[in-house]
Amino acid sequence: MENLAELYWKPIHTIAERKARNVIPRLERRGMKGFYAGTSVEAVTMISGMIPAGAVVGLGGSMSVTQSGLLDRLRALPITLLDRYAPGLSPERMDEMRTRAMRADVMIASCNAVTADGRLVNEDGVGNRVGGLIFGTKKVILIVGINKIVHTLEEAISRIKNVAAPPNCVRLGHATPCAETGFCDDEHCLPPERICNHLSITEGSRVPERITVVFVGETLGF
Ligand code: SF4
Repeated sequence: MENLAELYWKPIHTIAERKARNVIPRLERRGMKGFYAGTSVEAVTMISGMIPAGAVVGLGGSMSVTQSGLLDRLRALPITLLDRYAPGLSPERMDEMRTRAMRADVMIASCNAVTADGRLVNEDGVGNRVGGLIFGTKKVILIVGINKIVHTLEEAISRIKNVAAPPNCVRLGHATPCAETGFCDDEHCLPPERICNHLSITEGSRVPERITVVFVGETLGF
């Protein structure tokens, strides 16, 4: 039998890395910074090195931060981590974490989609992640799996609605049309169940390099 790693995984990883390396200069043209890490382990080490000791670090809601091992590493760093994933957090403490994260020294999150021309596309249920991404946090570091790079803005929005939101709704226990069928039905989806409430498109950063995107050559998050 042919070697599966050579036949299947090598082309997948090669094209993933090429996509990321093509997006990085387009991000940089827009005032943001980009890096590529082949694995989560490399990405976690890279990101840890970007956070100064003593920094107040907030978290946007993200499966990628947990899945990559970044959350565990953050918990071990000499920082003040606003740990919204701490076991047993009350709704009031969660709200406090979210609010303080919007004024943190560093906000760590992921991104729902990055277009090939370097735009960051996100949609939040509550708005704390896109809020902190836009303004208030001194630095934003996004850990982004290669599965999040898309060709166009239209594909980015479709990805959010038809790829990311359905499993997120299942995870959060929200009874939305996409949780039932796997596809968005915007017209028949309303709050409080709806998780798509605040759509943001980051087309550039006026503060140079305030936003850093670390691409990872793996599938991360939804
Ligand atoms: S608008 Fe509603 S149905 Fe559509 S993706 Fe968002 S949560 Fe799902």
